[in-house]
Amino acid sequence: MSDIVKNFYHLKQFEKEKVVLSDHIPLQKPLRLSIDVSNICNFRCKMCPTGNVKLLKEVGRPTGMMKFDLFKKIINDVEEIGGIKSVGFYGEGEPLTNPHYNDMLDYAMKKNVFKDTVITTNASLLDKERAEYIINSGIKVLRVSLYGLDNRTYQITTRQNRFGFDDIINNIKGFYEIREFLKSSTPFIYIKIMEGLCSGEKMSKFREFISEFSDAVGFEYVHDWDGSFNLSEKGGKVNPIEIRYCSKPWYQLSIGINGDVRVCCVDWSYATKIGNINNSSLKSIWNGDEMIRFRRMIVNGDVKQNRACRSCTFFKRDSSNPDADNIDVVIKSAPMRALSRYPYKAVPI
Ligand code: SF4
Repeated sequence: MSDIVKNFYHLKQFEKEKVVLSDHIPLQKPLRLSIDVSNICNFRCKMCPTGNVKLLKEVGRPTGMMKFDLFKKIINDVEEIGGIKSVGFYGEGEPLTNPHYNDMLDYAMKKNVFKDTVITTNASLLDKERAEYIINSGIKVLRVSLYGLDNRTYQITTRQNRFGFDDIINNIKGFYEIREFLKSSTPFIYIKIMEGLCSGEKMSKFREFISEFSDAVGFEYVHDWDGSFNLSEKGGKVNPIEIRYCSKPWYQLSIGINGDVRVCCVDWSYATKIGNINNSSLKSIWNGDEMIRFRRMIVNGDVKQNRACRSCTFFKRDSSNPDADNIDVVIKSAPMRALSRYPYKAVPI
């Protein structure tokens, strides 16, 4: 297991709780949901579709922020099915740009329908007030994406000049200090930086520096977003044990700013859309014909039918997915029951 995986909080947190997805599917409800509260970002990172206006126009991706009423409807749907394991309150943009973010966290956390709650942010808007709100909300994990180890690299990568490395570090430090002051054990602060930004002694020094005000650091590979991006570093070590089929349709859903429900969290272009939560329930979408058709497409190897899946390598490269699927056995026996191992250390609830 690599250092990256060892550092990944999910794996540490759920080390003893791991189950094999194939023993449990078909699940009656998803294990994981990501709710994209804003796909607007104050950065324009070179390796992110959200920072590429031309690409977004080509596929006509909707852009904006989720309305509070829609967010409430999603949480109410989760409550109706008795809660789910894990949620990420973020998607393709910077979640803290949504002016209703505090209210959204408040609503979702008071309902107490998720066991594992995560925010991913670039931390540029993580001021004192936000920090207090997030800490008091009880969110379990704060993931901060750090795009450089000095001001120059940071601004070149994020293609903006308002915030630099020092500003982000100050915000993370401020967050940590407030958490200490409030004597709160949550959220777990996980800093992720791009693999390759540093190595050797520089990496050791950075680890030492950042560990004073965070709980873990992970060096994660950039990826090519379902093959849409021609990155010089395609990113992600391919799992040494061959994973030939994607397991995402069996355990997760992603909800976009307009309520479009997609199978996949890397599907930035909404090509894996299987419904809209404004006019259907979460439960009916999860068990609906479109979702079943999608799963069959994956199991039958017909991924060329789908714009996102046809050139996707993400599911093979995900650093949080250290286990091998056993799809060959599956295809010979019971395709819909035993697709793969569940990639996170988690138990269905
Ligand atoms: S094949 Fe790729 S794009 Fe398709 S659902 Fe899996 S991870 Fe997402």
